[in-house]
Amino acid sequence: MGARPNFVKVAALYRAFSKYPEFSVSLVHTGQHHDDAMYKVFLTQLGLPKPDFSLCIHGGSHTGQTAQIMLAFEKVLSSESPELVMVVGDVNSSLACALVAAKEGVRLAHVEAGLRSGDKSMPEEINRILIDHMSDELFVSEESAVSNLRNEGIAADKIHFVGNVMIDSLVYGREKASEIPVLKDLGLEKGGYVVMTMHRPSNVDSPVELKMLTDLIQSLCEIKPLVFPVHPRTKSSLISYGIWDQLEQCSGLHLLPPQGYLEFINLISNAALVVTDSGGVQEETTFLGVACVTFRKSTERPSTIGEGTNRLVGDLDVAHAISIISEVINGKKKPTSLPALWDGLASDRIVQIIQKKYLK
Ligand code: UDP
Repeated sequence: MGARPNFVKVAALYRAFSKYPEFSVSLVHTGQHHDDAMYKVFLTQLGLPKPDFSLCIHGGSHTGQTAQIMLAFEKVLSSESPELVMVVGDVNSSLACALVAAKEGVRLAHVEAGLRSGDKSMPEEINRILIDHMSDELFVSEESAVSNLRNEGIAADKIHFVGNVMIDSLVYGREKASEIPVLKDLGLEKGGYVVMTMHRPSNVDSPVELKMLTDLIQSLCEIKPLVFPVHPRTKSSLISYGIWDQLEQCSGLHLLPPQGYLEFINLISNAALVVTDSGGVQEETTFLGVACVTFRKSTERPSTIGEGTNRLVGDLDVAHAISIISEVINGKKKPTSLPALWDGLASDRIVQIIQKKYLK
């Protein structure tokens, strides 16, 4: 595991493996996210122990980071000699460790396999495709991913449709999250505010996009109070283009540090709407039945649109975005259903499949 969404997924898997004493599991943290807000709070809140290996690699270019993780993980593999390496999601850590496993001839499992946005300008899309094509076991969270993998020629016996491990953690943490007085602390009413998260390079890296994001934030604050936990990447971009101070003055805006998992789940559970460019948040809002508007041209998680509460906005044209957002807030609730097997038991299914195939 390396970055924030990984901790949420790995926590669910770790809990499921812990029920089976016949497995010995070593937890590796590459260090991509490593501070209290983006890492340590997830260990505490989701019941993950201190990792067995901390590779302490962060920062640098995509290539440099991937290469350094590969070199460090190679040493872990040679000291541990595992029968299986399991990676989750689509971050650089997942790709780096998958590559090492493949090169060293160790069996590889990918959790959250087969998701495709069709947009290769997203670094995550490249990571997903490469990891899937190296993997021996592909654990799939939604039906579209099964057909994506079959269309790419992956053998059917490697593909396991098990459901969504991120939802496992949500089911696990939801009740605890509801007890946190985050709304009271912020002076907010249930259903009376909007939550925003933004961190994709396409939305926050250039001054043009940041200007549009700022205009969007200001317009949104005129509709309802806006809670914006700011990702470190977004914050440093806002500071370096001199926009941060302007946002701090914006009335109705709660500009917050990245929130702990339980605080964040509480915030989105009670929001009138979530505006995001996150992958995982599209799924969590679908599970919670909370309306979501996603600022992306495409999504690798189409079940959140077909069955769930999600709606895509392909550009940051502010007037267009605000008209869609107002429609969603003021309109009728979209009829939704839960994607198949999003029931909190995906990790258990994964462990049972591995048990059958690998522990004879
Ligand atoms: N999240 C959180 N605090 C925040 C924002 C997000 O705990 O302030 C959680 C969110 O509930 C989800 C995960 O972080 O479980 C999503 O991470 P992120 O959006 O960074 O990654 P992505 O899913 O886009 O890869």
